[in-house]
Amino acid sequence: MYTKTDLNDFGSFLKTLKNENYEFIFFNELSKSHHQAIIRHDIDFDVMAALETAKIEHELNVKATYFFLVTNGSYNPFDKENLNSINKIKDLGHKVSIHFDPTIYEDFKKGLEMEKQCFETVFKTAVDIVSLHRPNDYFQNYNQSISDIEHTYMEKYFKNIKYVADSAGTFRYGHPFNTEEFQSGKSLHILIHPIWWIYEGATNHEKLKDFYTKKKELMKSHYAFNCKPFNEIKHELN
Ligand SMILES: [Zn+2]
Repeated sequence: MYTKTDLNDFGSFLKTLKNENYEFIFFNELSKSHHQAIIRHDIDFDVMAALETAKIEHELNVKATYFFLVTNGSYNPFDKENLNSINKIKDLGHKVSIHFDPTIYEDFKKGLEMEKQCFETVFKTAVDIVSLHRPNDYFQNYNQSISDIEHTYMEKYFKNIKYVADSAGTFRYGHPFNTEEFQSGKSLHILIHPIWWIYEGATNHEKLKDFYTKKKELMKSHYAFNCKPFNEIKHELN
């Protein structure tokens, strides 16, 4: 029996799906009611963990779709190091696209068109599907494309097949492997946030502490490298 907080070994999570003869597909390849699995990653905080899950998947011959939040205060996808990591994820055979927050725009269709142009130019890839960041009821029931771009909450991906998510660090509505759908081999849409599987700790709180500690050190060395006076005071900061 799996528990809601069974989010530690991503490799064995994928192996369990493989052992049940699931085929790993991109969103536009969904064609069967059974034995297809869409692995989706929404990247809210950290590209580093995303690269780690991408490598684990690649080793197991699994392809996944990674969505990056272009408009966020936690990481910059166009930063040189993040940009390299996102390109690496793409080169490992995964799809990369936009994690879109429609609430920040007066006209969300125009907003997405603008983000699409940026993302496609920088990452040399076609944006034909996006996931929505923290969608409200309106967007969870918005069963149409946005400016001709599909999104992950359209009925065919969100309601017609079983959807499970590890939001907040637990499978809130039950571990996917305990569901009747998995046990009868039905097609699945699984949202995995790499942060919960790559950072260490027995609970979601512990994992966040590990994440925060590591990020803080990186931020310190970033400021120290770019600002002399910061370098002089960095030892005073914890
Ligand atoms: Zn999000």
